[in-house]
Amino acid sequence: MTTALIRLSDIEKVYPMEAETVTALKGVNLRIDPGEFTAIMGSSGSGKSTLMHIAGLLDNLSRGRYELEGRDVSSLTQNQMAQIRNQRIGFIFQSFNLLPRCSAFENVALPMLYRRPPASHLREKVTSCLAMVGMTDRADHLPRQLSGGQQQRVAIARALVNDPALILADEPTGNLDTTTGTEIIRLLGSLNDKGMTLILVTHDPEVGRTARRRIILRDGRIEREQRA
Ligand code: ADP
Ligand code: MG
Repeated sequence: MTTALIRLSDIEKVYPMEAETVTALKGVNLRIDPGEFTAIMGSSGSGKSTLMHIAGLLDNLSRGRYELEGRDVSSLTQNQMAQIRNQRIGFIFQSFNLLPRCSAFENVALPMLYRRPPASHLREKVTSCLAMVGMTDRADHLPRQLSGGQQQRVAIARALVNDPALILADEPTGNLDTTTGTEIIRLLGSLNDKGMTLILVTHDPEVGRTARRRIILRDGRIEREQRA
């Protein structure tokens, strides 16, 4: 049996608030293997983003256990989380989150700078990732000089640049028109065909149908699961 890429055991997430605490995840168990394409679905407020933030080491869990690539990451320091996140996880967001004053090339290069690679290696890697998303001829453009779909392509290249173990995408088509959204989902699907593990958060059933596995959340719990 292969090692699970992600293994979440009885995960709880509590947000302490002044008026009352909010329990956003109430005992989630989930195993994801390398190469899977999983959609996390459910209505607004069901806990999708919270689950993605925990899986992506963007936030601590309150209770339970999280193993990433066989390593217990349940109680790491912020620094340890940042390092694993940078090296093992690529992120794609609804609002692209590109740095406005940096070119497409510089935005893609950013996650690599952490490890101070030789300039030639950096240029080679960034160029190949931009090519993978069809953005070779836009490397010098600033985000505002790109369409939404092009910005999301740059963000996908950025997510790929450190050869992550998985890519997490939170509503990646949320700010795009239907046609452009379909192109982005097709691009993500082609990355999965090449072996990349994808977890895609969406409330859009059309988008969710492209995943081979769908996890449906409801009120902080996994309500059901579907496989294509
Ligand atoms: P979804 O992404 O499915 O819309 P979220 O994970 O964003 O759901 O939210 C799940 C629940 O947790 C909601 O009730 C939301 O109000 C609450 N919540 C999310 N983030 C925070 C936070 N940072 N502080 C307090 N409550 C939060
Ligand atoms: Mg959300």
